[in-house]
Amino acid sequence: MKSKAACLSPQEIEIRLKEKGIQPTAQRIAICRYLLCEADHPTADEVKAWADRNLPKVSLATVYNTLGTLVEAGLLKELKLPHSDKVIYDDRVSDHHHFLDEATGRILDVSPEALEVKPKLGEGFEVSGVEVLIRGRVIPTRK
Ligand SMILES: [Zn+2]
Repeated sequence: MKSKAACLSPQEIEIRLKEKGIQPTAQRIAICRYLLCEADHPTADEVKAWADRNLPKVSLATVYNTLGTLVEAGLLKELKLPHSDKVIYDDRVSDHHHFLDEATGRILDVSPEALEVKPKLGEGFEVSGVEVLIRGRVIPTRK
């Protein structure tokens, strides 16, 4: 269910940042790589924890403004899902649904094709998007 289509090489990230007028510092590139290639719907705190483990001295402000920059650049989406009051960051920016594994708290992507939603709201509403959170558990596959 999880795709890492957004994963870019450090060079590609550098180009993208420059295109957006953002100074591509080594720290920013490393955080971007983590967000686009490794992270899985992280919160800002999780990004900060990763940075603390992997990079020399990154402030929370740097984490937040790198996140903000990526959101502005359209490479990352800010999400607020009903299971938590924390904002999470999604590298899949096209419309999709989510599955919450209630046992682990992990969020998985669900493609729009996997769940057809047809709102019947009557007149007076124009729907611009539908995002659904499905809850359940991931059943381990036996090999
Ligand atoms: Zn997602």
